[in-house]
Amino acid sequence: MGSTLIFANTSNLIITLLSLLILTGTVWVIRQGKLPYKRGLSNIYVGLLVELASVWANYQTNVAYLQGERIDILMFISLCLILISMLFLAAGSILILVNKYKPSAVWGGVLTVGAIGVIASGYFVFISPDSYIVSNMQQIFAIAGFVSVSVALWAQMHRRHAIGFLTSALAFTVVSAILIIRMIPSSFEWEILNNWYLSPLFYNVLAVAYIAINADFLAQRLDLSKGEIVKYNRRLEEIIKSSPFPIIISRLSDDKIILANDNAIRLFGINPNELDHYRFKDFFADADNRVLLNERLENEKQVQDFEILVKTYDSDTPFWLLTSATTIDYNYDVVLYAAFQDITSRKNREVLLKDQATRDPLTSLYNRRYFEDEVHKRITKARQENGIYCVLMTDVDLFKRVNDTYGHKTGDKVLMELASTSEKALRECDIVARYGGEEFVIFLADVDAEQAYSVAERLRETISELRVPSDDGRIVQFTISIGISSSKVSDNIDTLIKTADEALYKAKQNGRNRVEIFTPEDLKNFKPEEETPHKDESQNRHPIFEKEENTEISLLDGVAEQHIAEEKTTIEEQAKEPHQ
Ligand code: GH3
Ligand code: MG
Ligand code: MG
Repeated sequence: MGSTLIFANTSNLIITLLSLLILTGTVWVIRQGKLPYKRGLSNIYVGLLVELASVWANYQTNVAYLQGERIDILMFISLCLILISMLFLAAGSILILVNKYKPSAVWGGVLTVGAIGVIASGYFVFISPDSYIVSNMQQIFAIAGFVSVSVALWAQMHRRHAIGFLTSALAFTVVSAILIIRMIPSSFEWEILNNWYLSPLFYNVLAVAYIAINADFLAQRLDLSKGEIVKYNRRLEEIIKSSPFPIIISRLSDDKIILANDNAIRLFGINPNELDHYRFKDFFADADNRVLLNERLENEKQVQDFEILVKTYDSDTPFWLLTSATTIDYNYDVVLYAAFQDITSRKNREVLLKDQATRDPLTSLYNRRYFEDEVHKRITKARQENGIYCVLMTDVDLFKRVNDTYGHKTGDKVLMELASTSEKALRECDIVARYGGEEFVIFLADVDAEQAYSVAERLRETISELRVPSDDGRIVQFTISIGISSSKVSDNIDTLIKTADEALYKAKQNGRNRVEIFTPEDLKNFKPEEETPHKDESQNRHPIFEKEENTEISLLDGVAEQHIAEEKTTIEEQAKEPHQ
């Protein structure tokens, strides 16, 4: 085939080389991929190049012969080249047929045959020159190479029906047939078989065939990976369905739920037949949780033990879940895989414990410790921002008498009513705490003493209008006295409380059911060290718990010692007056 090239014609040569360039391009393309036959196809390509070189050598031999020059060396070279071409073609055939062989093993066998061929060529060219045998060897080597490739390609074609193998098998068969026909001595002139364009045609057909083989291989791989994806999805679904934890898969692009196991269906109240009506965000009771989860997923791809507050689809009752979420590929989509664990009871316990540490059990107001810690923080912040604030100390007037007249249970009820009314009367940002016994302490943010005074007055009036039913059906009315201290007096929590207490004391002295302010001027006569230390934390406990075990409840309980003497008389006097 290649030996039909007519080198004398430059345009023919250029077309042939161009076709070869196209073939080179396709070989380069297939070498970049994972095509299993690429070694075989490359070997065949190299075989064709060497065959072309042998054609050139043969042409040079003929020129030398016509000029009467010595041709044995040229003949040997062209014979060796055609032999090398055959070896490449043979190696290529074997590699195509059984692509699991190592090329080195294939080449081992092929080179052995090649060595025998070289010795035979040398013998018939130099030692016992025989031009008939040499020219036959030239033909036979080429035929052997091309036929081996045809056979390999047909066998491969049989294994896999692909247009690329069919085309290249046909092309090689035609070339092999032409080579064989040319060897048959005949009077008929097969001029057409010697035409120059056969080679470029062959190279181009081969280039197209190689591309088709590559395309077929890619399609085959795609089919395979599609199958793998289906298998992977099925396994994932099985794992999710059998998990003891609720699991949800939602699409990242539109947040729609695309898979939920039975546990998740029950937990979130999902209708399994209408999965895609739900979006993952529908189940978040706190939208911030969702935003935070997304942010963390963007940064970390996987989030472990993230606490979220969720709800079922048709109820707003929130509950706590611990979730581990990650983004994965599922069904040609990027999805969010989220597994959950119900931690509502643990969370409730945590809230309860926190409440127990910060709240007073009777009134549910904050306790004294919480108040002092929190106000200390607020004061520190206000100091930096030049903020103003007030501290109010309130005390029920003649509360002992309420207890004595209506009993402790009613006294407790009065305290609860007082607590809830005080909280309701104040702003969200204010803090009300039970300081001890029937003394409450209040922190008012961003108000001066005058503003605090009107707040306190309003509160005092509201309280005086309260009507609390006693256990035996009577109506209890009571009043409170309030002492105010402000950021103008001090920015120290202890001093603020002590001065407010001092103002409260003044309110009591001035007749009760009234509000008094501790002014900065009052500081001159104020000796805090003489003041009684505030009641300790134990005063927040219900006195009955303490007293019932030990002694009777005294009317003087909770009264600062130095007040007792003075107060005793006042209380006794007032006790004589009727009190509802
Ligand atoms: P004053 O106007 O001077 O404040 O007179 P008062 O009777 O209210 O005197 P004081 O504030 O000293 O008395 C507080 C009383 O409140 C003493 C105590 O028995 C009672 N007390 C304290 N804690 C509780 C409680 O949790 N429940 C009930 N029922 N009574 C309490
Ligand atoms: Mg008191
Ligand atoms: Mg009192």
